[in-house]
Amino acid sequence: MQETTKLIHSIPVDPLTGAISVPIYQTSTFVQAAPGINKGFDYARSNNPTRAALETIVAQLENGKVGVAFGSGLAAIDAVVKLLQSGDEIIAVDDIYGGAFRLFEQVYKKFGITVQYVDTTNVENVFNAVTPKTKLIWIETPTNPTLKISDIEAIAKIAKANRCLLCVDNTFASPALQKPLSLGADIVVHSATKYLGGHSDLIAGLVITKTQELGEKIRFYQNATGAILSPFDSWLLIRGIETLPLRIKQHCASAQLIAEFLETHPLVNKVYYPGLKTHPNHHIAKRQAKGFGGIVSFNLKEDTEAAAAEFINNAKLFLLAESLGGIKSLVSHPATMTHKTIPAETRIAAGVSNSLIRLSVGLEDAEDLLEDINQAFEKLLINANKNKTAVFN
Ligand SMILES: *Cc1c(COP(=O)(O)O)cnc(C)c1O
Repeated sequence: MQETTKLIHSIPVDPLTGAISVPIYQTSTFVQAAPGINKGFDYARSNNPTRAALETIVAQLENGKVGVAFGSGLAAIDAVVKLLQSGDEIIAVDDIYGGAFRLFEQVYKKFGITVQYVDTTNVENVFNAVTPKTKLIWIETPTNPTLKISDIEAIAKIAKANRCLLCVDNTFASPALQKPLSLGADIVVHSATKYLGGHSDLIAGLVITKTQELGEKIRFYQNATGAILSPFDSWLLIRGIETLPLRIKQHCASAQLIAEFLETHPLVNKVYYPGLKTHPNHHIAKRQAKGFGGIVSFNLKEDTEAAAAEFINNAKLFLLAESLGGIKSLVSHPATMTHKTIPAETRIAAGVSNSLIRLSVGLEDAEDLLEDINQAFEKLLINANKNKTAVFN
């Protein structure tokens, strides 16, 4: 059976009533037949039928054993770090999501967990960074926002050889394009807020594990600390996932067109998109994923915050907002938004320059999106010329 068919039919029909949409079990507790005898549910922090349906769907979607649904992507990341103990080390991708960086540096550091940030696009850097204390390797691929690509299979081999876990934050690719567990990773996390939800209407996170044992550990930490996804948000997320493959196809197609257009534009310095042949790890992206995703970043020849702000202001269909992966196209300025918690020096070294602009290409018609970008550049040019004239006068 093909994947989309399998996904759609992994969404269960309610065994009690035949409801074709998974019911929202808005309840905190479950009546028990006798002490210790229940129908698999006792208290809704531990388990809830709507959340359980979602967790089964995502476990299958990522080719994993166990799925666990959290109240946010960061809660999911937090649960994975809880597998470690004081003295353990993490090796993480250098342009890691800003919130994960903050969690590592401002929360877990004080509990004695340390993180080495390396450029994981070169497997050798990962190999060289491993110490006897390394317990977890953490990658995102593609990364946010410079769309760096790391070789999941090669890094998984290093993890295995050194008896540490490989966790892949698969938010940017989504399981419609890339399945890290099938490439050797142990854990996948998602900010389901993005492509899995897909409609910019909820905050959610997921952990999916390759083994039952790891999944049970994550479940234990979730129940012990309580960062669950609500029944309604679980339902909303199932509803989003139903159309994931279809949406992703369109995101990829439009993003490719936009990236190619940007690459030829005279005001653009550099375009970051794994679907471009000029991307340094295009061949790896092509091998390990079915497509290149809906995020395109670029910077300007005039590499200033002011020039970026002007472009963003000129764009009309690309709405200025944090987040990504929804129906409506968004634009963001990482240096002052998602990456503001990362020190400037570290940020620029990782490629997040002052004029870097990130586009989350939505589901509008591609020709309208191209037209919007084009007019935003035209206005930028007119203003640049006006300023020149002012100098001459
Ligand atoms: C948004 C995001 C997160 C955090 O997820 P929240 O749902 O906002 O908590 C983690 N990783 C990546 C790559 C993200 O884009």
